[in-house]
Amino acid sequence: MKISIVGAGAMGSMFGGLLAESGNDVTLIDVNDAHIGAIRADGLRLATDSGDRHIKALKVCRPEEATDVPELLVVFTKTLHTRAALSGVKHLMGPDVHLLSLQNGLGNVETISEFIDAKRILIGVTTWPADLVGRGHVHSHGKGVVRLMAADGIARPIVSSVSDTLSSAGLQCTSDATVWAAIWEKVAFNAALNSICAVSGCTVDQLGLTPEGRRLAEDVVSEVLSVAQRLGINVDSDKCKTNVAGAIAQHKGHKPSMLQDILAGRRTEIEAINGAVVAAAARLDMKLTTTETLLSLVRLVEARSFA
Ligand code: NAD
Repeated sequence: MKISIVGAGAMGSMFGGLLAESGNDVTLIDVNDAHIGAIRADGLRLATDSGDRHIKALKVCRPEEATDVPELLVVFTKTLHTRAALSGVKHLMGPDVHLLSLQNGLGNVETISEFIDAKRILIGVTTWPADLVGRGHVHSHGKGVVRLMAADGIARPIVSSVSDTLSSAGLQCTSDATVWAAIWEKVAFNAALNSICAVSGCTVDQLGLTPEGRRLAEDVVSEVLSVAQRLGINVDSDKCKTNVAGAIAQHKGHKPSMLQDILAGRRTEIEAINGAVVAAAARLDMKLTTTETLLSLVRLVEARSFA
């Protein structure tokens, strides 16, 4: 399959590298010139449980240099950059292109719909991890899965074709009509761990130092998933709380991406996570005390960085 990935940081590079290794025609598109330069010079250095290698069978360029119209355009920027990134590759959105987002948060379909008909959007969620450890150099250790569906819920052949392509690359993909539940459960997980760590400076395991830390995380999960339930989405709140408790027990020293962003003085994905949930709750006349307080605090910490 001819695939372009816009936003070729940790996740975009990892997916692109694996898709290229499994025989797809892959182009990575990014605005980070140092990262692009390193991949052009030496290939993408990808370290996974299968080994540490340089992948050279892929193309890499800036948005304005990209000319090949793909069959599948994957957007893997942080959510706050989606609009700018898609504006930069509008010229690649030919009549047959489909666009896939596995980004975290809510609101991705709405943003992508500003550029392309909703019939051509695939939406999903992934549990694969990835870290950009240097220019042109990505680590992804452990296992994950991808679940996706057409944004309008219609099971067109493209959905299984993309799913098969990702699975052939080892990414363990299923097409799954219950993706919205998985998306909301991941949003709840991220709203709990990311926003609390971002404002407290705690690593994930440090949330377990006090009963209040654990309870705060549980309260966020309950609040977020109560909104999903009111929307008629069949989420599993107990499973999500168990996953959050498991992460607190096991993820020693882990700084979630929102804390990493705060420490690096970057904007976070808070608006697509706590922000989007609080907005959805307001539309339903629901008030989410803890999630909204954390949203206000992360906005304050971000504002301090940019003051
Ligand atoms: P990242 O910051 O490593 O990569 C994002 C890339 O987008 C960067 O290389 C950046 O230069 C690029 N970019 C920014 N603006 C752009 C533009 N206008 N045009 C082209 N490229 C642009 O982020 P990531 O960790 O790969 O995360 C991407 C998405 O996947 C996020 O929504 C994240 O929440 C989600 N996610 C991440 C992980 C993970 O383990 N890293 C796991 C699951 C989901």
